[in-house]
Amino acid sequence: MSLTTLRQEIRHWLRKRRAILLAHNYQPPEIQDLADYLGDSLALSMMAANTPAEVIVFCGVHFMAETAAILCPNKTVLLPRLDVGCYMADTITPSLLRERKAQLPGVPVVTYVNSSAAVKADSDICCTSANAIKVVNSLDARRVLMVPDRNLALYTARHTDKEVLNWEGCCNIHDRLSAAEVLACRQAHPEAIFLAHPECRPAVLDLADVIRSTSGMLAYVRRAKATAFIIGTERGIIYTLQKENPTKQFYSPSPGLLCPDMKRITLPDVLTALQENRYQITIEEECRQRALRAVERMLAVPRD
Ligand code: SF4
Repeated sequence: MSLTTLRQEIRHWLRKRRAILLAHNYQPPEIQDLADYLGDSLALSMMAANTPAEVIVFCGVHFMAETAAILCPNKTVLLPRLDVGCYMADTITPSLLRERKAQLPGVPVVTYVNSSAAVKADSDICCTSANAIKVVNSLDARRVLMVPDRNLALYTARHTDKEVLNWEGCCNIHDRLSAAEVLACRQAHPEAIFLAHPECRPAVLDLADVIRSTSGMLAYVRRAKATAFIIGTERGIIYTLQKENPTKQFYSPSPGLLCPDMKRITLPDVLTALQENRYQITIEEECRQRALRAVERMLAVPRD
């Protein structure tokens, strides 16, 4: 089937199923180009909750489709492949979290949305990379435990008076970006502004001109007068950035900033998902309710 026919066929099935296609900013260009909405994981899940569509086809990784299922219990959430995991989400399990909680009685657990529904369900509140500091500051506690991303916890700890205990998890993609790679890229492009994601190591964040989540990077570049940027996050976002800002230049500081799980879903997978109603992501109701409570507590934190 030609690419044009494949795209037409997917559009036909999206209409037939009253479905929308959501894609994370790290997805491959051909998926991004066909998506109804592009964004970060939480923005996409909230989009899913607010759309009249009956079926959500989520092009991202497993925990993202789970977040959509937490927020949209009456919709069918489809993940076109099941082998799209997340290294970071896999660094914590509900039983490991319960063990740690038992050692820290009374310490609230702040869980990054990059985690499974079952881990969210055992948390007090969720956070994103954009709101982690506000979420931690909103809690009536002197100490908090942040899971699973060590780097996000260390970054948050620098911007709050609270004691932030961390978990030894990370995104292996962001964590492997080194300060030496950033310095080399800066030397090659001295005019460029370096934007870093909070999932990067502290030594990398120390070199950043701007630290932002993916949606924060997109907003920053849109408004910036500068015309060259070094992008310290998964390189898939450069496609979105270049499309939105055709006259600006973008550089990735490392070939390692590529998440294989985010590149696995193909257009034929999307078509099969719609035709065969696969793979449906469901969450056991008691777990969903508890995870939803942690997400809703986060959404109730004032943004400014
Ligand atoms: S980029 Fe990192 S956090 Fe995002 S899905 Fe890949 S492994 Fe997980």
